[in-house]
Amino acid sequence: MKSVRKCDVLIAGTGPAGLATALYLLRERPEFARRVLALEKSRHPRFKVCAGGLIPKTMLALEELGLALEVPAIEVIHGVARTEVGDVDMYRGDPLCTVVRRNEFDARLARAAREAGLEIVENCRVLDVAQSSGEVRLTTEQGVFETGLLLGADGSGSRVRACVFGRGKESLGRAVMTDLPVDPERTPEFVERRYRFDFRCVSSGVSGYAWSFPCLVDGRPHLNVGIYDQLPPHGTSDEPRAGALLDELRRTFPELELGALGRSAKSFKAFPIRWFNPGDRFTDGRVMLAGDAAGVDPLMGEGISCAFEHGKLAARAIAAFLDGDAAALSRYERELHHGATGRKLRKLAFAARRFYGPHHRWYFRLARLSRKAQQVGVDWFNGAAHLDELPVRALMAKWAAAVLFDRPVR
Ligand SMILES: Cc1cc2nc3c(=O)[nH]c(=O)nc-3n(C[C@H](O)[C@H](O)[C@H](O)COP(=O)(O)OP(=O)(O)OC[C@H]3O[C@@H](n4cnc5c(N)ncnc54)[C@H](O)[C@@H]3O)c2cc1C
Repeated sequence: MKSVRKCDVLIAGTGPAGLATALYLLRERPEFARRVLALEKSRHPRFKVCAGGLIPKTMLALEELGLALEVPAIEVIHGVARTEVGDVDMYRGDPLCTVVRRNEFDARLARAAREAGLEIVENCRVLDVAQSSGEVRLTTEQGVFETGLLLGADGSGSRVRACVFGRGKESLGRAVMTDLPVDPERTPEFVERRYRFDFRCVSSGVSGYAWSFPCLVDGRPHLNVGIYDQLPPHGTSDEPRAGALLDELRRTFPELELGALGRSAKSFKAFPIRWFNPGDRFTDGRVMLAGDAAGVDPLMGEGISCAFEHGKLAARAIAAFLDGDAAALSRYERELHHGATGRKLRKLAFAARRFYGPHHRWYFRLARLSRKAQQVGVDWFNGAAHLDELPVRALMAKWAAAVLFDRPVR
């Protein structure tokens, strides 16, 4: 018979959301190390389908945690967004994005969390979750765990979410990607340290964009190319949708000869992205959700910075809960909805409805009108200098001062 293991707090999933929670918690309250346990279905370093773009907000979070990156990375300083009504160039003088490989990045975070005292039980998939009289019981591949508080940080396909909150596929998008080896001297993404976004697929019914990022796979130059579609998979199987996305990706980057790769799962990796839905709940009894399990940016599918933000809030709620504060979880629920991150995700959901809606051409035209507005928009999205935490009025004032008096945006 398998054993029952008990702990005060359990974190299901050790991607950025679960590990950031542990890192923020143990940085503030190292004495809690013995009371927290993390379960991971795989083993670090493990592959994760992701382009690995860290926006400046994520870099600020690492700085706040006192963590050096310590993994191979490419700093992107130029960007181009291609739309049906013309291109938009981006250059802000400092990195727009730092591209890492998730196997290396997440293993780095896991090492830091272990050094801070976190125990991670690997190869331990959560299979089922049930709550009763103030206790949460998890059935896993390594037996039963009982805990006073569970954080579901187990990604877009969250088992914790499915067991406690119901399945709900309505806020699941999809992304498909592949890595192509390239000659860095003949590839603009490497020569100019540039990433490319291409929104022309919106006119073909894709609620998203295709991308091309320079990256290093096992130290060798590659392009990570992919396509994101915010809308949920149609019908019972989303295979046809993934095929249509690949066709669209090939049309977007004909020069990359993606056709030669075929449609095999080996060449392309597909993965769901759960986006923030303001109608969702993020806590139930003694269970809370963070990162993709809760839902992230609907416009771009960017989720690593959000995982860190959720992690910071979850750490605060867990510490308060362990200190006996009965209102800690309801405060967490409120913060996820109405705190700075919730407000940002709502604005991104609003933007997604505009840019991927029937009048998208009009909004892309509007976005191309003012260079200063583009700079404010990019800095706001990237969370550069914490611009995304400013109220809308302060942001508009910055934009007005930049346009009227040529003041710097940040
Ligand atoms: C193709 C693609 C490209 C993307 N590109 C970017 C990008 O460039 N920049 C960006 O910011 N975001 C990007 N994202 C989104 C980003 O990958 C996620 O938002 C981010 O990984 C969320 O972190 P997380 O910790 O919430 O979840 P995850 O990173 O998914 O981590 C969840 C962890 O839980 C574990 N787990 C899952 N189920 C169980 C279980 N039942 N029991 C135990 N453990 C479990 C997993 O093994 C994993 O370690 C991309 C996503 C996709 C699909």
